[in-house]
Amino acid sequence: MEIRELHPGGEHERVVEAIDEAAGYHGIVAIHSTKLGPAVGGTRVWPYKSFDEALTDALRLSRGMTYKAALAGLPFGGGKSVIIAESRKMDRESVFRAHGRFINHFNGQYITGEDVGTTPADMELVRQETPYAAGLAHKSGDPSPFTAHGVFRAMQAAAFHRWKSANLTGRAVAIQGCGSVGYQLARELHKAAARLMVTDIDSARAARVAKELGAKQIQPDKIFDADAEILAPCALGGILNDKTIPRLRVGLICGAANNQLGEDRHAEALEARGILYVPDYVANAGGIINGAREMGRAPVDSNAAIEAIYDTVLQILALAAAQHIAPARAADRLAEARLRK
Ligand code: NAD
Repeated sequence: MEIRELHPGGEHERVVEAIDEAAGYHGIVAIHSTKLGPAVGGTRVWPYKSFDEALTDALRLSRGMTYKAALAGLPFGGGKSVIIAESRKMDRESVFRAHGRFINHFNGQYITGEDVGTTPADMELVRQETPYAAGLAHKSGDPSPFTAHGVFRAMQAAAFHRWKSANLTGRAVAIQGCGSVGYQLARELHKAAARLMVTDIDSARAARVAKELGAKQIQPDKIFDADAEILAPCALGGILNDKTIPRLRVGLICGAANNQLGEDRHAEALEARGILYVPDYVANAGGIINGAREMGRAPVDSNAAIEAIYDTVLQILALAAAQHIAPARAADRLAEARLRK
């Protein structure tokens, strides 16, 4: 395995690339911060169009993990790994074992888990090569129901802030992405009697939710024009940008996807349109809070910590309103204050 330290500049502690040609493996581990504890963050498998695209993703995602852990009150720093591959076509055993060997190289400074394109079974393969993997099938397992519940609580809090009622009954919610988290979120919202619109580029996934929960299925490119009150981005990042923001008809955005804002300035663009945006890393912390238990560093009651996302969102939205800043800025300020402590 060829291992190369990268120096992209900026605030990351370490960024490392590994290639194992025999295993068909090409990955990057980005460690943003270990100030509060070992850097934690999942492994994303994606067919990136270029190495730079993969690197940018790893850098942004790992920074988000630092802020997420800090705001969730967890003794972790932020990291992330990406594997450049087509998830459905690769030899999972050789790729994830190579990934495990690469992670072992960091001696516990970085702990991984699942993310887009990976499953608990993949983490079992990583675990054959390194102890630094969580989200295992026989332990805390799939984090997505916990993530989805945290998003649901965040949505309730934001609804309370916006409409003075946390009750989501009858609210029209458009969900982008019906994968692990999107599906679980749809189930919770259905139980709360919300009206659902769903989409997925894998139309069979959206069709399943439509059939099971009576949701309306819409085309992927129509999600930004949906006649809904709430948008729940549960696919990939960068979807709130110059092209999509002017099209939005919702009053509230709250979802699981990491890095939903195309660029930082899009937080202000949403404010200017009167759209309340719940910062992604606040809403989607449920999975890591649950995973912390498996890593032996859980808050005393991880379920209570997931419920507390509700209060954190209220606190951030109140701070944003008081200081006349976007909620994304308020969340950053709160996280940075915790990092300084
Ligand atoms: P997943 O891979 O299971 O699901 C993602 C779904 O989005 C897939 O079904 C995919 O086909 C769909 N998709 C991709 N691009 C799309 C597009 N343009 N339009 C519509 N659908 C599209 O992933 P997941 O685990 O459900 O995670 C979803 C998001 O939440 C990711 O951004 C992930 O980083 C974030 N997240 C997940 C967790 C977790 O516990 N799994 C925790 C925190 C954050």
